[in-house]
Amino acid sequence: MNILVTGGAGFIGSHTVVELLEAGHNAIIIDDFRNSTPSVIDNIEKITGKRPTLYKIDCNNTTELSAVFRKEKIDGVIHFAADKAVGESVKNPLKYYKNNIGGLVSVTEVMKEHNCNTLVFSSSCTVYGNPEVVPVSESASIQPAHSPYGYTKQVCERLIQDVYTSDNSFKASILRYFNPIGAHPSGLIGELPIGTPNNLVPYITQTAIGIREELTVFGNDYNTPDGSCIRDYIHVVDLAKAHVKALEKLSHSEHILDIFNIGTGNGASVYDIIKTFEKVTDSKLNYKVGKRREGDVERVYADNKKAIQELNWKPKYTIDDALMHAWNWEQNIRK
Ligand code: UDP
Repeated sequence: MNILVTGGAGFIGSHTVVELLEAGHNAIIIDDFRNSTPSVIDNIEKITGKRPTLYKIDCNNTTELSAVFRKEKIDGVIHFAADKAVGESVKNPLKYYKNNIGGLVSVTEVMKEHNCNTLVFSSSCTVYGNPEVVPVSESASIQPAHSPYGYTKQVCERLIQDVYTSDNSFKASILRYFNPIGAHPSGLIGELPIGTPNNLVPYITQTAIGIREELTVFGNDYNTPDGSCIRDYIHVVDLAKAHVKALEKLSHSEHILDIFNIGTGNGASVYDIIKTFEKVTDSKLNYKVGKRREGDVERVYADNKKAIQELNWKPKYTIDDALMHAWNWEQNIRK
């Protein structure tokens, strides 16, 4: 299939492009590099031996997007392009409403204009808020969002449901990601946070390499076995493979709307991650305990049975693998 990947040079996007190419599909990337670099394309080629087609455009630009659809025969779209910093979304909500919701409106509009009816969308477990029951399943209720970022994911999910209801040919798969970490085992692609990382694992690797002085554990007084928050950390390559499976399922289905949790099904605490990082890198990490971070939920991890059963997918990497790969990547980019 010819798959258009918006935000295909980003962290999850680039790993998904690799998996698409390795599964025999063609990938057409659109990315405006606001949060990524063009060298990612060279590295995708080094890993796969294939060079994805690239258009440097903003997916909000429907004229340019439409031109891509005219030029390429697009069978389906994976839509990643979005802003993702929770804190920034609180300070600058309009940026998030415009880019995250506006971007999906543009992409869906242009898809319809060109009779392309297959969409995979990157959503997030933030839609569950602080779930009453863990592991949380897809049927759990959606909680009021804590941030504009989280709200844009909820609105985008609703938009996709509404388009599905209004159009008998439309097929979509909404993937609710848990916490993607790691990097490609080749060490050639990975996460490139701009400025101070918000996420735990890039903060750990930047501390270990000496860019940050110390990690702060955001709260050790939660009602969890070691007092720190629990999350479901999934290797980015496993997450990327789920997109290919979701797309392949859509290609064999008629009018369908899928929603899948993409996580490992296991919870790990902040201290578990620190200890595992120290073990696999045989080093000591500088860290201290600080205050709880506003908006953090105590524990969330996935019930991933639906994805395992219906997508013929299973996460294969461990947290040890993911942290080792993240560390290799950090070392490679600082050379
Ligand atoms: N965390 C931390 N220190 C940091 C960054 C994150 O203790 O510098 C914790 C955070 O409170 C949460 C977990 O690590 O419990 C994962 O946070 P992250 O921002 O990576 O992902 P989130 O679950 O918020 O999407």
